[in-house]
Amino acid sequence: MTQALILKLLRLVCTSVSGLGRQKKLFILIYHQVMDQPDFMRPWEIDKAAFSWQMALLAKYFNVLPLHDALENIANDSLPSRAICITFDDGYANNVTNALPILMVHKLPAIFFIASGYLDGGRMWNDSVIEGIRTLTTPTLDLTAMGLTSYDIGTPDKKADAAVEIIRQIKHLQPDVRSKYADHIASLAKTMPDDLMMSSEQLVQLHASGMEIGGHTVTHPILATLTPDAVKQEVIDNKIALETLLNTSIRYFAYPNGKPDQDYLQDQVSIIKACGYDAALSTQAGVTQKYQDRWQLSRFTPWDNNPIRFMLRIVMMYAFNRL
Ligand SMILES: [Zn+2]
Repeated sequence: MTQALILKLLRLVCTSVSGLGRQKKLFILIYHQVMDQPDFMRPWEIDKAAFSWQMALLAKYFNVLPLHDALENIANDSLPSRAICITFDDGYANNVTNALPILMVHKLPAIFFIASGYLDGGRMWNDSVIEGIRTLTTPTLDLTAMGLTSYDIGTPDKKADAAVEIIRQIKHLQPDVRSKYADHIASLAKTMPDDLMMSSEQLVQLHASGMEIGGHTVTHPILATLTPDAVKQEVIDNKIALETLLNTSIRYFAYPNGKPDQDYLQDQVSIIKACGYDAALSTQAGVTQKYQDRWQLSRFTPWDNNPIRFMLRIVMMYAFNRL
């Protein structure tokens, strides 16, 4: 496809978005990592180059707002057309090293939801699985003795598939059981990275750059697997840790993993309210409108590796509430 045709189609798509702008809907986008370059073990993660063109498109064709402003605008019926918020979950260091400079270039605000227990050298269990398998040189990974199966990891693609499958199989286990699998895989690796997540210093830098910081629990558990007291502890301890470090109020919360009735339960929503938050975000795909539950705001990832499909996904979500 020629560059001219691409631009023509893009203009058409953006005109459509413009026309839909009167409906007063808010898109809240989710990102996790912004890699230095495409990574075969994390094909779902965006890299710097793609993030850069995505942000250029958002800056040019949309009204990118701080979450706080967007929610106030929704409440008082003053949301601008084509309103978008940008969010990041978990607290990866490359949010600061890669995403922040690009956001600053385009003067785009964003909110970063941080799992505070992994600051300063921590590693999430799913990253232990991915990074452990990355380094293995055996053709298979045999986890039958641990109740799973034997995985073919003979090629880069098979390694990536095995990591995704193992993560899917253990994701909803109790946190301590899940950690046993992740720690075992990490123990097979020669070296494991300890710099995937932000340092406290990087988080302070991110906040000082004008970005908002939100809560995402201490250890990123699936809340649905926890008792009410354990949920409260995770949420409160995370909020206090972030508020103490940043000397600011932490106003918004993102549910770990975030699927309603699967990763968190409806009767756990009241715990988040009671912990002093102003609103909370799920990962249920959708757009936000005035009468949507403020405690389970929808988000979505319009990931695609070309600008036209990226824009089309946003238009589809806007018009039909599906990707
Ligand atoms: Zn998360």
